[in-house]
Amino acid sequence: MFGIGRQKRKKEKHAICYEILDAMRKTGCPICNILKRLEEDSIKYMLYAQVNDPLVRRKLRESLGLCPFHAWLLADIVRGNPEIDLLGPSIIYEDMLRTYLEKNGGYDGECFLCRKTWEFERIYIEEMASCITIDNRLLDEYRKNKSILCRRHYEMLLNNIDERLRGKLTTIQREKLRKILDNLSEYIRKQDYRVKENPSYEEARAWLDAIIFLKGEKISPNINWFKLELNRKRQRTRHLFSV
Ligand SMILES: [Zn+2]
Ligand SMILES: [Zn+2]
Repeated sequence: MFGIGRQKRKKEKHAICYEILDAMRKTGCPICNILKRLEEDSIKYMLYAQVNDPLVRRKLRESLGLCPFHAWLLADIVRGNPEIDLLGPSIIYEDMLRTYLEKNGGYDGECFLCRKTWEFERIYIEEMASCITIDNRLLDEYRKNKSILCRRHYEMLLNNIDERLRGKLTTIQREKLRKILDNLSEYIRKQDYRVKENPSYEEARAWLDAIIFLKGEKISPNINWFKLELNRKRQRTRHLFSV
């Protein structure tokens, strides 16, 4: 029994390492991009299969229909996918508005998709750390490819790996940042009318790479990080008082 469990876990780990490797081969932050897809998939699944699910509805009421980031992501998904029936979001937000009126006011509870993404973020960082530790050719792949870990995920990953790998990752990250900086400088230099060369694709998009590194992609942990910090502090305080 334990053997089967171990086999299964090994297989799952293998799949996650491949998922991370695949994300590393694309532009942007690999962790952000995985989380972005998970956030979009969660909303699509909610709209396709959970509109009348009582548990999901109760969770939705806690934040009166998600945080602003996820509510607008839902709106973008509905507007961008004509096959999604408008009945689903209408049913959900009718209930949210009714809840607001019945309670004679609003309350700003935690958005369950924020909590879910936050948990996935921790899981993927831990998995990435373990994939790198098992097979450090993954870091060589990261060096070769165009992806760049955003500052948040780079720092989280550093905290989850040993000293030796930390040194290697830091070197690679600094090489990548230096490259972005060189691309930005080259782009600016080539705007001079005396310079005849045209900027390359990498040079023209370097400003975007700089934003991706400094601020991360448009996902809830990067947009709502101050709320997460607040919740974490609140939980710590609650914990202190409950001891
Ligand atoms: Zn990231
Ligand atoms: Zn949210």
